[in-house]
Amino acid sequence: MKSRPLFLLILTCAGCLLIQSSTQAQGTSGLSALEKLDPLWSLLLRSVPTKLRDGESLTALGVQQSDGIETLRLQSWYQGLEVLGSQVHLHRTPKGEFTTDHRISFVLSPNPKLPLVEALRLATEDSALRSQLRGVLKILPNFTTQKAKLIYQIRFPETSLWQEWWLDAQTGQILAQIPKHRSLLPINIYDGRTMNPSDIHPDTGAPNRFDLPKLQAMVIEGQATVHADASAYRAQTAIQKIQSYFDSVHHRLPLKPGMQSLHSVVHAGKQWANAYYSRYYDLLAFGDGDQTETRDFTFATDIVGHELTHLISATTPGFYYYNESGALDEGIADVFGILAAGNTQWILGKAIFLYPAQMAHGIRDLASPEKNRDYYRNTDGSYTPMPHPRHLSERFPPDAACTPENDLCYVHGNATIPGHLLFLIAQKWGNARLEKVLYLSMTHFLSPLSDFKDFRRQFLAACEFLTPNNCDIAAWAFDQAGISEGITSKR
Ligand SMILES: [Zn+2]
Repeated sequence: MKSRPLFLLILTCAGCLLIQSSTQAQGTSGLSALEKLDPLWSLLLRSVPTKLRDGESLTALGVQQSDGIETLRLQSWYQGLEVLGSQVHLHRTPKGEFTTDHRISFVLSPNPKLPLVEALRLATEDSALRSQLRGVLKILPNFTTQKAKLIYQIRFPETSLWQEWWLDAQTGQILAQIPKHRSLLPINIYDGRTMNPSDIHPDTGAPNRFDLPKLQAMVIEGQATVHADASAYRAQTAIQKIQSYFDSVHHRLPLKPGMQSLHSVVHAGKQWANAYYSRYYDLLAFGDGDQTETRDFTFATDIVGHELTHLISATTPGFYYYNESGALDEGIADVFGILAAGNTQWILGKAIFLYPAQMAHGIRDLASPEKNRDYYRNTDGSYTPMPHPRHLSERFPPDAACTPENDLCYVHGNATIPGHLLFLIAQKWGNARLEKVLYLSMTHFLSPLSDFKDFRRQFLAACEFLTPNNCDIAAWAFDQAGISEGITSKR
């Protein structure tokens, strides 16, 4: 799907509807552009301005379409500043229209105590790099505490690994360092054994940098070359299996609209016991395992499914990869990885282990999360193992700053909170119903900063829309996880 001109609807005050056209590609990825103002949308939009607060405006991001539902996403602005993740979704269905609201009320001065130049200085001491930074004043709402902060969103240049920082514009405190979500997709596979050794971390064996044109190609546009080996064939088979799942069950192919190719590197790094989707290089990298406990990660189709689900979630809702929205991204990726791979035990990543004892636990066990551990970072910088939680009261508590050192406030550690409750729902409903409701929640109802509590609301809304009977079972599962209406989780 090519980028087309997008019509921006700008709602600025009660009773006035201003329509502007724009050729900016804002929000076009994964969202079809509004070629014209559809009279039905226009009718629906009339109900929104009356809900605008003083100083608030909304802009249209685009329309998402799936079976039986169309969703128009509107972005909220306050005093001319973007309110991150704060959206209104208008849904149109054969049964009627309704709205879901991802905004909170707050009072905030739009004037920062910290000048931008000072914020950039806090981001880096390197004056050459600083001249390439872009800093924009924005508002960061916290949907759990119902408060908002004025922040600087600072973008690092494309060559930098960490591409976005959030700094408190009053105190200068770093609130988050977030990798940029980028992604693409068909199948090219390269041999990581032809990587330049200087592109591999000397201690961990993790691949740091990829220069695809210099690597040996094993599969090109789905065709194996003479260099293809068992790892390349396994990776290709796993990727095809995941793509056909999303195609047949959710009518979603390619995973991200506009994608031309998906690049993968097998044998990546050196005895590297991991796999990831690199948003920076737009590729899936598979390690060979440490060969002591773990083996080639291409054996785990569910991990491939997990990584490829990030391609979808990076488009809609476009989760910010930190704290609860990041843990939701991880938990939902675990569940779709398991479902797409046909994994019946709900234990992710069993196939990467060499021996039965670890194989039994996998990486994350969504049925019995506490069987596995992750690491909590203490104030002195040391780490303590903690069991994966199934209940909010057992969570890895978020720190003041979410950085790579604390796994962006434990996006993997806390992934089992949503993951386990989705497992509970699947036990009652069956996978077929769960995957439909979850997919609809992800692509139409959740927003970039949805937290666990909002996940409850939006999952139940998707359930009521798609399969209205027995949604109380879903509510019961959220209760089991300690995610109830009206609660405020401990900070
Ligand atoms: Zn992940």
